[in-house]
Amino acid sequence: MFFDPLYCLFAIPGLLLALWAQAQVKGAYARYTQVRNARGVTGLQAAEYLMARQGLSLNVEGTPGQLTDHYDPRSKTIRLSQGVAMQPSVASVAIVAHELGHAMQDKTGYMPLKLRGALVPAVQLSPMVSYALFMLGLLFQMPNLVNLGILVFGFSVLFSLVTLPVEFDASRRALRMLQDNQLLTGQEMEGARKVLRAAALTYVAAAVQSLMTLLYLLSRARRS
Ligand SMILES: [Zn+2]
Repeated sequence: MFFDPLYCLFAIPGLLLALWAQAQVKGAYARYTQVRNARGVTGLQAAEYLMARQGLSLNVEGTPGQLTDHYDPRSKTIRLSQGVAMQPSVASVAIVAHELGHAMQDKTGYMPLKLRGALVPAVQLSPMVSYALFMLGLLFQMPNLVNLGILVFGFSVLFSLVTLPVEFDASRRALRMLQDNQLLTGQEMEGARKVLRAAALTYVAAAVQSLMTLLYLLSRARRS
């Protein structure tokens, strides 16, 4: 009773979308990490320059891996991967500006970012706890437990939906920041836009996956 072929029907479209989005972002990054920006600024230099211009004082740290760059609102830190920090590419500058876009959201009290931050603790537990409640509910035929499991999973869905405006807005701010400070030329801006658009797709795919899982849980609860 724990494996349900119907689950595949719900899971596969989201999974394919996620794989496609991953390929897009890797492709865009691979391409624009090879394109040197005309000013020859590395990600780290762009970060320092833009922070000064935007009046942001943040810690800048390194982080292992590729495309692992992120902004941590709790410690006011941007963490940059080696490739982004060190390479003077279009991709590096675009990614740094995106992370600074999150820092600007934080500075200006952008509501979706606050909401997303508030959901983090709930989301760290949500998928596992909700699945356990849901399965126990089915096993012992306790509809309330099943519903509770679905409700708890709702936090994950909410989180993935709130992430969308947060990510799109950070990229919007990034492109404006790059334009206003003329860090990239017109043609380079097009490259930056492509990198950020591809990155946003991965969040869309994650939201679709969590919505499809919710639909599956609802349909399975209804059948039992
Ligand atoms: Zn982001």
